[in-house]
Amino acid sequence: MYGLMMDNPLLVTSLIEHAARCHRDVEIVSRTVEGPIHRYSYANAHLRAKKLANALEALGVKPGDRIATLAVNGYRHFELYYGVSGMGAVCHTINPRLFADQIDYIVNHAEDRFIFVDLPFVPILEALADRLGKVEGYVVMTGEAHMPETTLANAMCYETLIAGHPETYDWPEFDERTAAAMCYTSGTTGNPKGTLYSHRSTVLHALTATTTIFGSRPGDVLLPVVPMFHVQAWAIPYFAPLAGSKLVFPGTKADGESLHGLIESEGVTRIYGVPTVWLGMLDYLRASDKRIDRVERLLTGGAAPSLAMIRAYEEEFGVLVEHAWGMTEMSPIGSAGINDRILASRSPEEGRAMKVKQGQMLWGVEMKIVDDDGNRLPHDAAAAGELFVRGAWITSGYYDDKAASAEAFDDEGWFRTGDIATIDADGILHLTDRAKDLIKSGGEWISSIDLENEAMSHADVFEAAAIAMAHPRWGERPLLVIVPRDGTSPTREDVIDFLRDKVAKWWLPDDVVFVDELPHTATGKVSKLKLRERFREYTPPT
Ligand code: AMP
Repeated sequence: MYGLMMDNPLLVTSLIEHAARCHRDVEIVSRTVEGPIHRYSYANAHLRAKKLANALEALGVKPGDRIATLAVNGYRHFELYYGVSGMGAVCHTINPRLFADQIDYIVNHAEDRFIFVDLPFVPILEALADRLGKVEGYVVMTGEAHMPETTLANAMCYETLIAGHPETYDWPEFDERTAAAMCYTSGTTGNPKGTLYSHRSTVLHALTATTTIFGSRPGDVLLPVVPMFHVQAWAIPYFAPLAGSKLVFPGTKADGESLHGLIESEGVTRIYGVPTVWLGMLDYLRASDKRIDRVERLLTGGAAPSLAMIRAYEEEFGVLVEHAWGMTEMSPIGSAGINDRILASRSPEEGRAMKVKQGQMLWGVEMKIVDDDGNRLPHDAAAAGELFVRGAWITSGYYDDKAASAEAFDDEGWFRTGDIATIDADGILHLTDRAKDLIKSGGEWISSIDLENEAMSHADVFEAAAIAMAHPRWGERPLLVIVPRDGTSPTREDVIDFLRDKVAKWWLPDDVVFVDELPHTATGKVSKLKLRERFREYTPPT
């Protein structure tokens, strides 16, 4: 027997409509890429998202078409989140920090019809345009006064594009399982893989996020430093309108001084970003003797924060630190914070030490940890195994990539995270290692395999392995361990110079060490586990 309740689809437009209705004057403030601060209200944002939807229809955009963005956090990007998804197309955010070949692959694989681009990233597309044959036009996210000279074919100006269109648009109602947004992850080996979020998954994820320590309330002022080009900025652009919280977008400037300026001028109460950003701000605050007294909570995720950083913010600055874990494929939040009941039963120092762990499982995300044979391990805080997840905002397959999808799930249909973790009896997740062969530097991925493959093409390199070494600022940095060919003696500089035109600059290893042999597993693979253990204490020469 079915319940007798209305079956209204969960669509992302309901979030901005709610904000325009109930939180109409609440502000969205942006430090623009052009320079000045821009401010308007949720009600204005809603009207402009409608103008954009009309403009997209006039361009011939149809439901299901992929419309890409290459943009930082700002109000026009926010309008794209709603205007594109709202009219039934797919808002495909692209990370401008990716290597050119990856952007080329992603745009072509997604078959993006139009790309909306922020001014600083126009040169990236100009350099790539010959390879992006299917893109029909580029919309530069600025007004006429800042429109650049560009070699991009069919370049349009955002403000001109939407200018003549009406502020009225009836958001269409469709199946909630319709794709709303898309984001490729480079947190895998091989080509980037596309996660296709649905309206339903996005709304459920945003709703759940508001129930956690991650969420917000009316009166809160949120500063998402986590970029809108990556996993929808941890759902902040969706749950802030739902909650009625003010949004402050930092544009391109994520340095301590710029962030501090915005925090002070806008009365920010909650700040969201990866640990590297908060370490940078900590340096700035200490050096300048500045405070951030209005900030109540610092929410960090994407990489592990250090206990020292948590302690510094909590003790020196009186800001509560909350820690979350997730993945692009999980919309992204899977675990967030440790509840007050548990923290109250520990001393402040014990509680703080617990915050290094990745937080409690969210409602709606099931987790299991398994051994090498796929047997489930107990949630006893001791047994560590590979972490698998399932839930309503977790990917069920990569976009148009059968091979990658086949490897991503176990026989029971659970998604393989590539993280190694323990879980305790309260559902607190603790990442202890990583099964995927990757290095996460400042919240962005470096593929060890790609680095190794490039290094192996050097004539003097017999075998190469790239591993993560701990770094106080970036979390992890690559260390390349090389076995030279007999009779050769390559140097660190030789190898780094050789790699310079083969990988992105920030992928270059911080150091190269030479060894007689690498440890191998029984199946002949380099044992990264043993290698990481061997170099655990390694610090590169300064
Ligand atoms: P991405 O899909 O690029 O957001 O990366 C997701 C991956 O980042 C996870 O599978 C983890 O390996 C890592 N990660 C995310 N959050 C954390 C965290 N809080 N602590 C440690 N690693 C994390």
